[in-house]
Amino acid sequence: IVQWTPFFQTYKKQRYPWIQLAGHQGNFKAGPDQGTILKKLCPQEETCFKLLMKDILRPFVPEYKGQVKCEDGELYLQLQDLLSDFDCPCVMDCKIGVRTYLEEELAKAKEKTKLRKDMYEKMIQIDPKAPSDEEHRSKGVTKPRYMIWRETISSTATLGFRIDGVKKADGTSSKDFKTTKTRDQITDAFKEFTSNCSNAATRYLERLLNIRATLQESHFFKTHELIGSSLLFVHDKRRASIWMIDFAKTVSVPEDINIDHNTTWKVGNHEDGYLIGLNNLISIFESLIKD
Ligand code: ATP
Ligand code: MG
Ligand code: MG
Repeated sequence: IVQWTPFFQTYKKQRYPWIQLAGHQGNFKAGPDQGTILKKLCPQEETCFKLLMKDILRPFVPEYKGQVKCEDGELYLQLQDLLSDFDCPCVMDCKIGVRTYLEEELAKAKEKTKLRKDMYEKMIQIDPKAPSDEEHRSKGVTKPRYMIWRETISSTATLGFRIDGVKKADGTSSKDFKTTKTRDQITDAFKEFTSNCSNAATRYLERLLNIRATLQESHFFKTHELIGSSLLFVHDKRRASIWMIDFAKTVSVPEDINIDHNTTWKVGNHEDGYLIGLNNLISIFESLIKD
């Protein structure tokens, strides 16, 4: 169960509780202007937002309104609050891509060959059969082994996205999707999420198709590896929309490398599987609408 973030947003003179489905709670605050929020500054993310404001993807990301320094002395990014136009919004965060760590992070993990007992413990808690005989004997796994395995317990490695959190119309919210893995499980979760609004699924599908068409033409998308980035789904009784968020781990692709976001990832090729995830999302929403 997700905790409500401890702040209220004021918009059109109404106060509404802000909903945060992922990340550390301390990373977000209410913004100084109406309809904005503050996210703790990550320079990489700011670089991306500045580029995105000039890219054709601009309509699909929260508007970036510059840096703000708070009383705590910390710097924040001021962003459009994507929830502010909705009444009692239902919100879902889907993390896109076939992996959620950077190649650089994997390389760093590979330098340390120490066996990790804590990671072994986490592994057997989820799947006692996951470790090899050797790993069982030593009661430890290496960090890179754990990182790669972790993407296989959800739909990340197979479908190219996973559900990170959902807040439904009845007010209940959940982050309990760590092992939601199969297409059927995901389909059920999407059905449940859109069950309170008859045309939400159709509108979501339209928006996904729009995002895909724009990505094909985007210079930003062509030149960046999007890791740990999400699509944020938001609907109420009247409307439904989706935005691309979270660019803290979005980095430019090395100059000598080209990626198409659709090819299988192999260490070193920098493929993120963003379009694998998006295509699967589209296919699942298409099947939902047919039912
Ligand atoms: P993590 O890396 O763990 O995913 P993070 O600290 O990078 O988290 P984000 O993923 O950017 O944070 O955002 C966390 C959550 O906050 C999102 O799932 C969403 O619910 C909410 N959120 C983020 N940005 C916005 C926005 N512009 N408008 C409305 N809600 C937002
Ligand atoms: Mg995120
Ligand atoms: Mg993040």
